[in-house]
Amino acid sequence: MKIDPEKCSNCGACQPYCTVGAIVESKKGEIREVIEDECVECGVCSRADVCPTDAIYQQELAFPRIVRQEFSNPLIRHPSTGIGGRGTEEMKTNDVTNRFQAGFAGIGLEFGRPGVATRFSDVQTMAMALAPLGVQFESQNPVTALMIDKSKGLLKPEVLNEKALSAIIECLVALEKLEEVLKTIKKVAPMLKTVITMEMISRIAEDGSIPTLPIAKSVGFTIRPNTKTNVGLGRPGK
Ligand code: SF4
Ligand code: SF4
Repeated sequence: MKIDPEKCSNCGACQPYCTVGAIVESKKGEIREVIEDECVECGVCSRADVCPTDAIYQQELAFPRIVRQEFSNPLIRHPSTGIGGRGTEEMKTNDVTNRFQAGFAGIGLEFGRPGVATRFSDVQTMAMALAPLGVQFESQNPVTALMIDKSKGLLKPEVLNEKALSAIIECLVALEKLEEVLKTIKKVAPMLKTVITMEMISRIAEDGSIPTLPIAKSVGFTIRPNTKTNVGLGRPGK
C-alpha cells in the first residue's frame, strides 16, 4: 500500500487502522507514509475509508510481493487453492474431506497474528525441521504451494523475506511419529520471531478415546479439546 505524499494532509486518521504499525509519520513530520518492508498489503487502511484526501492507494503488486496480499487480505483468493484469507479452511471444516484418516493426526501451525505477522523465513525454518520427520504437507494449502522441495520443507527463495499477517502449515503425521513431531515444534517455535497457534485433529478411536491427547500431554502441551458435528452440508471426499 502507498500514501500519495502530494495528497496526504498528515491528519493521522489512517494510522490506527494499520494491522502491523507500518504507517508512520515521515522524518520531517509533514506526512504519513507506509514502511514498505513492514506493510503486509492487508488493505485494511484503504478499506477503512477514513482518508479525507483519498491519498491511500494500492500500487501494482508483482511476485514475490503479491504473496503478502494473498496471505493477508481476506478479499483476495489464493491462486493455489481458490480460498481467500490464508488460503485454507479450518481443520474442523476440512474434516469433511476425509483428509484425516485413522492412524494419523492432522497438524495446523498458524504463524503470525495481527500486530505480529510473520516472515516466510520463519515458516520455512519450521517446515525444514518437520520435513525430515516424514510429515506429509497438505497439497491444498498455499504454503505448500510455495514449496520447491517438500521433502526438505524448502520454500521459493524469493518469498523468504516477504511478510504476511498469517500463514498456515498443514501436515499429516502418522501417530507413531507424533511425539517426535510435537517435540520438534516445541523446540523450534521459541527460535522464531513470531507467534504460533497450533491445532491438531484426529479421528476418535472406537473406544471413544482421542489418540492424540496422551501424546500431546506427554510432550507438555495444554489441551483444549473441541469438536464439530458435520450435518451433511459439506461434500465428503473419498
Ligand atoms: S495495507 Fe495493511 S499493513 Fe499495509 S499500511 Fe495498510 S493496513 Fe498497514
Ligand atoms: S488518512 Fe489520508 S491524509 Fe490522513 S494521514 Fe492517512 S493518508 Fe494522510
